[in-house]
Amino acid sequence: MVSSGKRAGRLLLIYVSALVVTGLVAAAPLSYQTVISPGTTSPPSRPQEASLSGGVTTTRPSSTTTAPIGPIAGDQILFGRSVNGEPLVYQRRGDPQGARILVIGSIHGDEDDGISIVDHLAELEVPAGLELWLVRSLNPDGNIAQVRQNANGVDLNRNFPVNWSPLGELGDWEYSGPSLASEPETQAMVSLGEEIRPHLVLWYHQDYFRISPSGGIGGRIRRDYGELTSLPILQVSGGTYTGTASQWSRTITAQGGTGFTIELGPTLSEAEALTHGQAVLAVSEKYFVK
Ligand SMILES: [Zn+2]
Repeated sequence: MVSSGKRAGRLLLIYVSALVVTGLVAAAPLSYQTVISPGTTSPPSRPQEASLSGGVTTTRPSSTTTAPIGPIAGDQILFGRSVNGEPLVYQRRGDPQGARILVIGSIHGDEDDGISIVDHLAELEVPAGLELWLVRSLNPDGNIAQVRQNANGVDLNRNFPVNWSPLGELGDWEYSGPSLASEPETQAMVSLGEEIRPHLVLWYHQDYFRISPSGGIGGRIRRDYGELTSLPILQVSGGTYTGTASQWSRTITAQGGTGFTIELGPTLSEAEALTHGQAVLAVSEKYFVK
């Protein structure tokens, strides 16, 4: 959960990436408010599907974000802005009729090695019957500053509108914000997730090196993923887990879907990142391709 050490190289890479994207945005003739036409690159409207979130109270935030907003550079689609105005983007790949797999490389800013897994997923061949929705980072401000929280000092992984509770205050590591889904990054993801209704949602963190156990299909997928990546299935503890992104994601999945957190170790080699990318595709194909 709390990453060890700063990774200057990674920071520089993220910063340069942000500059490139920002530059492309500035150069693009598109208005940020352009709503792209349905059936091209915007997510399709989907009928409401039964959620598996029995008993979990979901409160819809008073969202100010309209998602998705539109293409900004190449295949990167803008779906919101960070507190400091950095673009929040996703890339969509594969079969538009396939099972929808949403992968978020980083939500805690100083836990950013999952971004390289997303980068592999942007290059690997997508198996038939799958559609990838790739978000390199939901917290670019935190990545740039190499801090856990967003630029308002809020732990985004305690700010989601499911089982939210007030935690701490500004300066505390788990500060959950002034209200549920108070942060623009949270609002953007809530809108996007409700639009996608993914079958599988994966969130990368560091550096507990484990996946917490679960029952049902979620438990089986976690075990398979752990075997493929040599990650042990062990309880994650030490925090107060209210308003977390993974809890929220399990309330917006398509029927039969699930979402969970993957705690990487303190470092991740390129070879390991590739292994994780391949594991995402393998479990997605095994459990969600009919
Ligand atoms: Zn974390």
